[in-house]
Amino acid sequence: MRIIVIGAGPAGSTAAETAARLGAEVVLVEKKMEIGSPVQCGGFIPEASELRDLLPDAVLPETLVGIPERCILNRTKVQRLYAPSGRSAEFPVAGRCVDRRSFDRHLAHRAARAGAQLIVGTEADVCGGSIRLKGRREGIIDADVVIGADGPSSKVARAIGAVQRDEPGICLEYEMVGVDIDRDAAEMYFGERWAPGGYAWIIPLGGDVANVGVGVRRSYIQGKMDLAAILRRFVEEHPHAGELLRNGETVAVMRGIVPAGGMPDMIQSGKFLLAGDAAGHVMATSGGGVPLAMVAGRIAGEVASAPGNLEIYTQRIERELGGPLRGSVMIRRIVDRAMRSDRSIELIFSLLDPMTMKDIQRGRLPAPLEKLRSLLTV
Ligand SMILES: Cc1cc2nc3c(=O)[nH]c(=O)nc-3n(C[C@H](O)[C@H](O)[C@H](O)COP(=O)(O)OP(=O)(O)OC[C@H]3O[C@@H](n4cnc5c(N)ncnc54)[C@H](O)[C@@H]3O)c2cc1C
Repeated sequence: MRIIVIGAGPAGSTAAETAARLGAEVVLVEKKMEIGSPVQCGGFIPEASELRDLLPDAVLPETLVGIPERCILNRTKVQRLYAPSGRSAEFPVAGRCVDRRSFDRHLAHRAARAGAQLIVGTEADVCGGSIRLKGRREGIIDADVVIGADGPSSKVARAIGAVQRDEPGICLEYEMVGVDIDRDAAEMYFGERWAPGGYAWIIPLGGDVANVGVGVRRSYIQGKMDLAAILRRFVEEHPHAGELLRNGETVAVMRGIVPAGGMPDMIQSGKFLLAGDAAGHVMATSGGGVPLAMVAGRIAGEVASAPGNLEIYTQRIERELGGPLRGSVMIRRIVDRAMRSDRSIELIFSLLDPMTMKDIQRGRLPAPLEKLRSLLTV
């Protein structure tokens, strides 16, 4: 069985390692010259105990359960949410703040050690049933199965006609040094002024370093969108965060998009499978996608390396990730209405206790609202 995996992010490297371990001949193609760099991530990954609760039907790859200490920059204990007025609520979440450069490289090393052939600095494109390579390696290659793990702007998804649902989140993030933050807390800030249609975040990377970012949606912004101005305003003017970040200096700027609208109708067509961001495998309530990308990568690698029925891929994904993905999209659509005004965000903060907020972020409706599910979803 010959498999081409396009994209060496968490989904692609996990798929490549899995398939190679199962005896397939695997080629992993990555357009970046350096796997993992530039980073497009906050690096926050919940501890395995949290993930088992978040994704109760998923089999977590061992690489997600046991992330090497050298890739972990900091550990957090709580998640703290700020309403536009500055009031806050927090709930316990054990989290790992990961250096994505070294984590992505670690996953790629494992894929190579398992026997996958790595081709970096090479862009892959779908050309009929084959794959055209451009860059450090040129030419056309063929395979029995192609796994599109090529991220949120996936060419493979486009080639097979898989259309992302809803508008994506658009993100800008700074790595800042010299900030005076709570190292135990991953923080999310809401409000029309700070993050229209999304949220701003501070993820502590240890010591006085943090990833500080903002994710917004275009339809929530009137006129021209200037993401740099939005993030600058958050850093400089937010009544609470502005104090913490006042003496910070920016050492890196990262941009990216988050396909937080749920899975497209189709994630498999013929010999093509989609995994990770390419398939909308992202929690719509938080934008977190690394754990789901790795679970999907594992499933893609297993299905691709077994001769026969690739159509089972969609069912396997549905069984392990379908519930949390659908739940998070449904809740985000409900919360979307509240996002249009600071007053309704404040109302949510005053009505919900912190543990209910945690459930909501995990894509679960609190029991009393569960009965109204059909009325709330349109
Ligand atoms: C600003 C920002 C912050 C985020 N923070 C978090 C967070 O804190 N925690 C979390 O869980 N998630 C976070 N996410 C989401 C997370 O980064 C993604 O869900 C995750 O990286 C998905 O993994 P993936 O392997 O599917 O895709 P990617 O990590 O995007 O990897 C895809 C790879 O494919 C390569 N590629 C693309 N096209 C081609 C091609 N044609 N040929 C060859 N190679 C190609 C790319 O170079 C890339 O290396 C964040 C996203 C953004 C934008």
